[in-house]
Amino acid sequence: MKAAVWHGKEDVRISEVPEPFVGKGQVKIRVRWCGICGSDVHEYKEGPMIIPQKPHPLTGKCAPVILGHEFSGDVIEVAEDVKRIWIGERVTINCLLYCGSCVYCRQGQYNMCLKLATVGLGWDGGFAESVVVPEYTVLRLPEEVTYEMGAFAEPLAVAIRAVKRSRLKVGDTAAVIGAGPIGLLVLQAARAAGASKVFVVEPIGKRRELARHLGANDVFDPTGCDVGKEIAEKTGNLRVDVAYECVGNQTAFDTAVRVTGRRAMIVMVGMALKPLAVPFLKLWGHEKEITTCTGYVDEYPGALAFLSSRRVLIEPMITAKIRLDDFVEKGLIEMVQNSQNHIKILVEP
Ligand SMILES: [Zn+2]
Ligand SMILES: [Zn+2]
Repeated sequence: MKAAVWHGKEDVRISEVPEPFVGKGQVKIRVRWCGICGSDVHEYKEGPMIIPQKPHPLTGKCAPVILGHEFSGDVIEVAEDVKRIWIGERVTINCLLYCGSCVYCRQGQYNMCLKLATVGLGWDGGFAESVVVPEYTVLRLPEEVTYEMGAFAEPLAVAIRAVKRSRLKVGDTAAVIGAGPIGLLVLQAARAAGASKVFVVEPIGKRRELARHLGANDVFDPTGCDVGKEIAEKTGNLRVDVAYECVGNQTAFDTAVRVTGRRAMIVMVGMALKPLAVPFLKLWGHEKEITTCTGYVDEYPGALAFLSSRRVLIEPMITAKIRLDDFVEKGLIEMVQNSQNHIKILVEP
């Protein structure tokens, strides 16, 4: 079968690989759509970051590895001992693989597993005609959820996790810094969670428009105005209760500090690759908190429910649909060189 295989930095090849074998407790899925994630682009541009360089302690896998963790498809084969999933079912997966026996797994905190692995990084993923995964990762798509929507379940689970970690309460005000794919999903998840107002801060005009279309109460260009002041004006000088930093750099973090009010919460959703300077005095005086979020634990059912009820819309976020053959040129390289014009590129194997 054909697959997109990561061999090293700037070395992803579309190659012919053996059909994956269905082992005990495993399910084989024919992939319909697989979304390109920011982390795939990071692995291509600057990797390896999460891709293991020596055999992963849980999966035994290391590079070369098939990328892709945001996918949907049809079950085409199940192992004999698989009882919960049938051939022909439309599915997506929770792409975290965990040991099930460490102290965190025993408490149900699977994203903290001491041997955590991710499909598409530490296990062969969905940029391939088919993929084999353990049964426990597989989730049925509700009838109303299309395959395209199913490919968004993973990033939406990340967004829902971010909102949970923020302890946002009904009626709170919020700001989303950065309207990339995760920012736009956090915006919608925060609204679904009962935020009274959600502001979006984003320098790219097209993304601001999209944020407004997806429910932002107001959008701001940080390069053209003093966002702190603007948001203060819109909130009776209180500024927001919660800020979601969905970029992962100093400027975005500084904005998050500026737009939040007293006793606010700042959630670091973006992957800050470099250390950030933190103005502790400003946080201290206002008892502001900073928290992080990584992956998801039990956020998928909520994600699928929001997709199926169309409380979260993903169609406007799809900026290209490409074939697996074009994955490098029209996918990864396009995301690097032309990121302004893209939110989510979906790949059809
Ligand atoms: Zn992702
Ligand atoms: Zn574990």
